Amino acid sequence: MRAVTVTPGVADSLELVDDHPEPVAEEGGVLVQALAVGVCGTDHEIVAGEYGEAPPGRSRLVIGHESLGRVMEDPTGSLQPGDLVAGIVRYPDPVPCPNCAVGEWDMCRNGQYTEHGIKALDGFARDRWRVPPRFAVRLDPALAQVGMLLEPTSVVAKAWDHIERIGHRAEWQPRSVLVTGAGPIGLLAALLASQRGLSVHVLDRATSGPKPELVHALGATYHSVQVNDLDFEPDVVLECTGAPKVVLDVMCKAAPTGIVCLTGVSSGGRSIDFDAGALNRALVLENNVVFGSVNANRRHWDLAAEALARADQYWLSSLISRRVPASRFRDAYVPGPDDIKVVLDFAA
Ligand SMILES: [Zn+2]
Repeated sequence: MRAVTVTPGVADSLELVDDHPEPVAEEGGVLVQALAVGVCGTDHEIVAGEYGEAPPGRSRLVIGHESLGRVMEDPTGSLQPGDLVAGIVRYPDPVPCPNCAVGEWDMCRNGQYTEHGIKALDGFARDRWRVPPRFAVRLDPALAQVGMLLEPTSVVAKAWDHIERIGHRAEWQPRSVLVTGAGPIGLLAALLASQRGLSVHVLDRATSGPKPELVHALGATYHSVQVNDLDFEPDVVLECTGAPKVVLDVMCKAAPTGIVCLTGVSSGGRSIDFDAGALNRALVLENNVVFGSVNANRRHWDLAAEALARADQYWLSSLISRRVPASRFRDAYVPGPDDIKVVLDFAA
């Protein structure tokens, strides 16, 4: 069968192999026919040889962690043939740490977790894959074209879950949300904000392309200005750029008792001049919280599946800029100027 593979650590080693072995029973009882995988920044880093780890004893890794497929068989009977599913990316570490021991592998404390298509587990960019039943998430049948958005949605469902848990440390009546960055994570974070009935603002440097219209379609306000030029103080910020200046600016911009959730991963290595004392003073005197958030556990995947089922399907499909047949796989991994989400299509 077909599989898109790389040699981790080696740039441009991307290859489509036609004779990849079928998934073995040890990978899990649920056998899935792949429909599509989404491509994200992590995939670009893996293709560039900057990230990723092959399964033990192997040199090549099947990539792809944003999955969508149809169930072929589930011996437990909880999923039926034809059901639309996505596979959970991260698996608990083998020790396990206290968090992995209770299914909160998104909060793993020892870093020994594994991840499909990223870290020591083959990914989903292959014709067929297997996962254990509790790592298969059923999707509403209406999501057949867009269900590969479940993985990035799980990331923002976790971010919102933790924002709300932190918010409930005291009386919690947020009104305004600022999302910085209108890529897939930012737009899905804005979707979940709009589903909560909040006043949603999205800031991005793009002034043309599809982003402003996608934001307007959520009933949200699009800003293409500096954070400091915004004329309101947000109760909640979801920072999705990882750009150092934006990160620092939103920490200073949040309203009293505001919560800033950082989801963007910065590359590091550049320093900027910044008044750390003023930031500390603002955080303390306003009871603000700044926290980081990554990955998602089963509960968040289920919340994300509910959020996608409730969303406007036309809006979700508008996030998908290009659908590239698996036979032209290389095109999927070359970013285009107006790309939001690129999808590698295994059904074509
Ligand atoms: Zn762990």
